[in-house]
Amino acid sequence: MKAAQARTKRLLIRCGAAVGIAAALLTAGCAERLRLFEARLYAMGTWVDIAVFSSEDTAARLFEEAEAFLRRFEVDYYAWADGELARINRELAARGEATAEPAMAALLREARRLTIASEGAFDPAVGALVEQWGFHSAFAEPAPPPPEALDAWRRSGASLAAVEIDGVVLRTTLPGLKLDLGAIAKGAAVDRLVELAGRHGIRDALVNAGGDLRVLGRHRGRPWRIGIKDPRADGVLGVVELEDGEAAFTSGDYERFVDRGGRRLHHILDPRTGLPVEATRAVTVIAQSGVVADAAATALFVAGDDWHRIARQVGAEAALRVDAEGEIEATESMRRRLVSASKDEWDVIAES
Ligand code: AMP
Ligand code: MG
Repeated sequence: MKAAQARTKRLLIRCGAAVGIAAALLTAGCAERLRLFEARLYAMGTWVDIAVFSSEDTAARLFEEAEAFLRRFEVDYYAWADGELARINRELAARGEATAEPAMAALLREARRLTIASEGAFDPAVGALVEQWGFHSAFAEPAPPPPEALDAWRRSGASLAAVEIDGVVLRTTLPGLKLDLGAIAKGAAVDRLVELAGRHGIRDALVNAGGDLRVLGRHRGRPWRIGIKDPRADGVLGVVELEDGEAAFTSGDYERFVDRGGRRLHHILDPRTGLPVEATRAVTVIAQSGVVADAAATALFVAGDDWHRIARQVGAEAALRVDAEGEIEATESMRRRLVSASKDEWDVIAES
């Protein structure tokens, strides 16, 4: 969206922190009111909403850079586009070795760490499996692969843990390994957009990629409030508050699925069985970064009853899970954040 089209509202002034010598300068800055600017961009198959409290010029520059960034990112980080991840997959298949751009390599190293910490519940090496189920394409009708294909998958040992990452160089001896960053890339994109806002000096912001989000600072002088979506009904299960810099990501079985004879075939697969996970309806994780929150939400969704242990291992201190029967469980840290006030007082809904 062009900056000129950004919707604006007069709202918050955040000048309370002016102290000492800096006070005069900050007060001068405050004379020029910070306003709320919002942009909506379509990327990675979803709407990305950016809301910032800033000057008009700053918002305009940020939105332009954000759009350029997302246009590149959605190609480079999607395995079925013609970008960097597709190139890496081709090179790994052809020679068992590929060199990644530094930012991609850093994300792959972090993804590998989280694959090991989650004991393979989150594992971006599911690319070939995702493709066999037909979840890679918005146009394909998802359907179970033939039993022989699932057997072959289970025997393949495909895992990001089986890829050695030495700086920016990836090596594997596994044939046919295909990386799919679908469970972590949105987290990386949200992190980079929040960092971009920070570099523009913005202190209060919300980046929301289709219900997966991260905040900076506060909203009108109080913490940002997130409503956690009920996976089977309109409305929310509860409202929680986020601290400066925190991310909230949700994995759910209600975003992409087909109903086959009463069984819900959806896009989150257990790498160990090759099948869609049936034990969970939704998981929301709050963490210090989008990358960790995104990967952890997928990991805990797959972990099933074992989710408390895996949550500790991946560093998902605040997490909420809805199981197959609709029972809601939350970690102590998530329960502490629940705002007891009215259920319908939230700024944005966290959803899959
Ligand atoms: P999310 O919505 O973040 O849980 O990510 C789901 C997407 O990640 C799917 O559409 C697949 O592309 C991919 N995926 C599915 N299952 C897994 C898994 N167990 N580990 C890593 N990625 C997965
Ligand atoms: Mg995820």
